[in-house]
Amino acid sequence: MTTVIDRDAATRTFLAHTEGHLATYLEGCVHCGLCAEACHFYVASRDPKHTPAYKLFPIAKAHRRNKFPLALLGLAPRVTAADLQHWEELLFDSCTMCGRCTMACPMGIDIASIVGDARQAWVAAGLGPADLFAAADSSRDHGSPLGVTPEKLRERIDWIADEHDVEIPLDRPKADVLLTLSSVETMKYPDSVASMAKLLNHAGVSWTLSSKGYEATNFGYLAGKADIAKVMVQRIVAAAEGIGAKTVIIPECGHAFGVLRWSAPNMIGRRLPFEVLHITEYLAQLKRAGKLHLTPLNEPITYHDPCQISRRGGATADARYLLQDFATDFHEMAPTGTENWCCGGGGGVQAIGRAANLRYQVFKLKMEQVEKSGAKTMVSACSNCRLTMDESKAHWKWDGGLASLVELIAEHLVEKPAS
Ligand code: SF4
Ligand code: SF4
Repeated sequence: MTTVIDRDAATRTFLAHTEGHLATYLEGCVHCGLCAEACHFYVASRDPKHTPAYKLFPIAKAHRRNKFPLALLGLAPRVTAADLQHWEELLFDSCTMCGRCTMACPMGIDIASIVGDARQAWVAAGLGPADLFAAADSSRDHGSPLGVTPEKLRERIDWIADEHDVEIPLDRPKADVLLTLSSVETMKYPDSVASMAKLLNHAGVSWTLSSKGYEATNFGYLAGKADIAKVMVQRIVAAAEGIGAKTVIIPECGHAFGVLRWSAPNMIGRRLPFEVLHITEYLAQLKRAGKLHLTPLNEPITYHDPCQISRRGGATADARYLLQDFATDFHEMAPTGTENWCCGGGGGVQAIGRAANLRYQVFKLKMEQVEKSGAKTMVSACSNCRLTMDESKAHWKWDGGLASLVELIAEHLVEKPAS
């Protein structure tokens, strides 16, 4: 079947996003190329098409044709169907929206956010990666990208509670804290769900999960499907308001944190009536309040900063604070923190099957970083990073260890010492 590519709809979508600051970004690029070496895809492939600035060409082309002074003369070329086909791989498979290029750009151009907005043009054109789009549609229709419906959630939570001998409240009518989950954790890393429950119970937090708003991941945002992105946010907001939550905790998921913390108010047109904290930020608060009691971890570990939590999220220091006095043999990678290399699977790239080989190439950067650090295990606070890295580890038969931060902390809980 031949795909009909609606380039005019794509152009209209590009132009809708070039109102305001985005036009400044597009006009501000001085083509210096400094962003290239900052991008893990370019560094892994050495292919000029993976230069971050090159990803802006279709949207910049639409802008030049329609909004620059030359547009009056009708001289600038139009966006073509061939442009959209060529750049699909560049905007979806080879941009994790990690934001590392912005750190290198002398003009401060936020390529990650432009890519996020520009993806909507592929949806409008009738193009885009089918598997990523299916994950978004499943989120809207079933509640999660992996088909975790409210009924399935109930079954799964019962099973995890039973298996790990931990109380996991679901649908309490009132609670101070609403915990959300990534279905990657619910289905693939259930230990992570049990660990968060153990930690919150240990600290005596008034919390619950909700079958009305449980899915933290937002594949609508990643796929460029703005309507689905909004629905996913609204479900969490409604669930939190329903129980009177003061705080919504985002689990170990990077983009889920970025979307709810930074983008959600614009999506729903009002301020969120609760604070949004990543689980590492919330655990750091508990630690500051003297509510986490741990035995030390003496193995050599390092910490992988998930891009949306550290570089774009601002929670770099809280992860270190959690590890301080706990991980007695901690090794930083170089570069680290806000400069750290991406896992290669953020921004929805993990869900795109045809991008697997590129992800594996990117993971070589991580393997090299860990080996140079002297650590034996790389710890992360994002289940999407973890899944990406688990698959890449298997591909390369790498013998380095991978672990979740919340699981490690939960494994080292001890009863409150007698005062
Ligand atoms: S946001 Fe990250 S993946 Fe995307 S172009 Fe910039 S450095 Fe590369
Ligand atoms: S570093 Fe910034 S100004 Fe230079 S090419 Fe990249 S996006 Fe353009």
